[in-house]
Amino acid sequence: MDEREKLNGRSAGAAGRAGAAAPTVAELRDVNERLLIAGLREQELAAALEAERAQLVAVLAGIADAVLVVDREGRVVRTNTAYARMFSDADPDAGGTPEDAGEQPVSTAATIRARAGRGETFSQSFSVAGGDGARRWFEANGQPLHTDDGAARVVVVIRDITARRRAEDALGRAARENSLLAAAVANLETGVVITDPHQPDNPVVFCNPGFADVTGYGADDVLGQNCRFLQGPDTDPTTIGHIAAAVAARHPFRDVILNYHHDGTPFWNELVINPVYDAAGDLTHFVGALTDVTARVHLREELRRQALHDALTGLPNRLLFHDRARQALLDAPRARRPLALLLLDLDGFKEVNDTFDHHAGDLLLQQVAERLRGGLREGDTVARLGGDEFAVLLPGDDRAGATVAAGKIADTLAAPVVVDGHTVRTRASIGIATYPDQGADVDMLLRRADVAMYTAKRTRTGVALYAPELDRYTPGRLALVEELRTAIAHDGLRLHYQPKIDLATGRVARVEALVRWQHPRRGLVPPDRFISLAEQADLIGPLTRWVMGEALRQCGAWRRAGLHLGVEVNLSAANLRDAALVEDVEGLLAAHAVAPAALRLELTESAIIADMAHTAAALTRLAALGVGIAIDDYGTGYSSLAYLKRLPIDEIKIDQSFVRRLATDETDATIVASTIGLAHSLGLLVVAEGAEDEETVARLAALGCDMAQGYYYSRPLPPRELERWLRWRDAEAGGLLSARP
Ligand code: C2E
Ligand code: CA
Ligand code: CA
Repeated sequence: MDEREKLNGRSAGAAGRAGAAAPTVAELRDVNERLLIAGLREQELAAALEAERAQLVAVLAGIADAVLVVDREGRVVRTNTAYARMFSDADPDAGGTPEDAGEQPVSTAATIRARAGRGETFSQSFSVAGGDGARRWFEANGQPLHTDDGAARVVVVIRDITARRRAEDALGRAARENSLLAAAVANLETGVVITDPHQPDNPVVFCNPGFADVTGYGADDVLGQNCRFLQGPDTDPTTIGHIAAAVAARHPFRDVILNYHHDGTPFWNELVINPVYDAAGDLTHFVGALTDVTARVHLREELRRQALHDALTGLPNRLLFHDRARQALLDAPRARRPLALLLLDLDGFKEVNDTFDHHAGDLLLQQVAERLRGGLREGDTVARLGGDEFAVLLPGDDRAGATVAAGKIADTLAAPVVVDGHTVRTRASIGIATYPDQGADVDMLLRRADVAMYTAKRTRTGVALYAPELDRYTPGRLALVEELRTAIAHDGLRLHYQPKIDLATGRVARVEALVRWQHPRRGLVPPDRFISLAEQADLIGPLTRWVMGEALRQCGAWRRAGLHLGVEVNLSAANLRDAALVEDVEGLLAAHAVAPAALRLELTESAIIADMAHTAAALTRLAALGVGIAIDDYGTGYSSLAYLKRLPIDEIKIDQSFVRRLATDETDATIVASTIGLAHSLGLLVVAEGAEDEETVARLAALGCDMAQGYYYSRPLPPRELERWLRWRDAEAGGLLSARP
């Protein structure tokens, strides 16, 4: 079309010039010919042009890119089918969403058209939201098209680059992720190591800086090496075997293993190994992660140790002892070996605690633990079960062996201990139970050793073997408490009286009331068996009141019958804290018409010292009534006489353990002698208890001791028998000893 106008224009110009001179015929023919030719050409040309146009239109329709032609005003003057297809489901003028804004300058079809309208060459990408909400990306290239009529247009070719962009995005993301992962691995405190199982000996092909932190080995040391350089002499071969097996089977592995740092120090390594497979499922590498968990392992070991050991002495505790004993009992039948279990407690411990303070008690326990530990053989276990109670496990020992071992332990513990500058003597009572004859489980053996220990304490023998007949002394505790409560309330108790002899005159000065329990099935139960139970069960108040009432009733009865005997009653520490004690005593004295001077109360040192404030007040009020007060078991506590003398005390009873050894032990003889001297200088009467033979009595008399009490004279007796004994004695002495009104 334009071409034809162009041609037309040119021919008009030629005709104009021809008008200046008239053309000849020949010229006209020539012109005609030329015109004819030109006309023919014009037709050809037009056809050729039309063909070309059709081709172009076909091409435009056929290409995948959208093409549009935009005029100066930004109007779309032509589009191809791809354009229509491309934007059929989208609003090409819809702008990008704000989220895109940061990524890419947002362009819309409208801005493309605006740029095209300015007639520039440009290249620009833009995005539009599709009808389904999915964003699609395009790249537009504008190329100005200059036409002869000066109506500039721009051909814009728009290509859908969504797929390309997505691919690029994915790549970028992968790259970003890779660098993130690399940074993460580089910054991990965990050691990361990668090995290549396709190379000989599975060498390290990568390690991160964390690996150097954990192991001390840098990349230069380890690349190309197998990781076994981390192993050392104490690495558990079993764990190494597990690693090898997991690697061979291409299985993951996880365990805590002892490895060695570059500098040789061992550390606990929590090692995780995982095989890595490619997309085809073939093994490519192993990745190992190493964490130093030494602190955690040590903490766990420490917690375990603490859970199984006694904090004060460091000895195994009850839990660990049970465990060891159970294990030993499992092994014993196979090894056809006996086993002995010893239970031990300290006789003087409570006194040390009461007399000094708990710190001293702790020090004593520590020294006892040290001595016990020192006497052990390989395989023996000594444990602290609580308080002053210890247990010893002697695998391989029968009754004879255990008795020897227990004797040695008793000897070791008998040696004086210096605690906080004080010399302290403790004795141990040890009970023995043996496997297989006395039980096959830990609890049974412990129970029986406990029965034996009680016997050792009761009989003051130090060591006792369990025997079934001892069981009657250890009935069930709770049932016992109830039975005792009933006995106190319903006349189940009895008093026996043991005389106390004046060594100068041979007269019976007083009798000590000692309680017994007339048990319906067990027979006569000795006080050692139930006094501490009464104390623990809060029955000691009513028990003491009964003893006091009965002793005073008996005393009054004897007096009315012409038998002038003073009575002595034992008190527990708890009695001194009882606010009603003094009134009770006063009331009972009045009720039975007994003079206060006829009553003497006995208290142990530990009972006095346990609660000095209460004790001093109570004793002062009792003394004010005119009641005598004696210190019982003197010498087993650690108080000084000068200290006790500040209390209203008029008598001390030297403990029978000193008296019994008076004739044989020089130290004990010295203690008794100096105690008598000191007590006298303080104006106190001295009684020796536990005088069992004539020689002892003679020595006591020689030392100036005032009174003696013991089996040599008489065991504690029921009232009728005591009266008979007194008559017999008086008869023997020709009536010289009879007490007068
Ligand atoms: P204790 O007050 O030291 O009583 C002396 C204990 O030694 C008595 O034991 C007595 O039978 C025993 N005994 C006396 N002479 C000898 C001897 O020559 N050789 C030997 N080996 N032992 C001798 P018993 O009667 O079994 O009393 C034991 C403990 O029970 C008493 O020791 C006392 O602490 C406590 N007890 C007894 N009756 C009462 C009571 O009514 N109230 C309180 N709170 N405690 C009591
Ligand atoms: Ca006593
Ligand atoms: Ca005593």
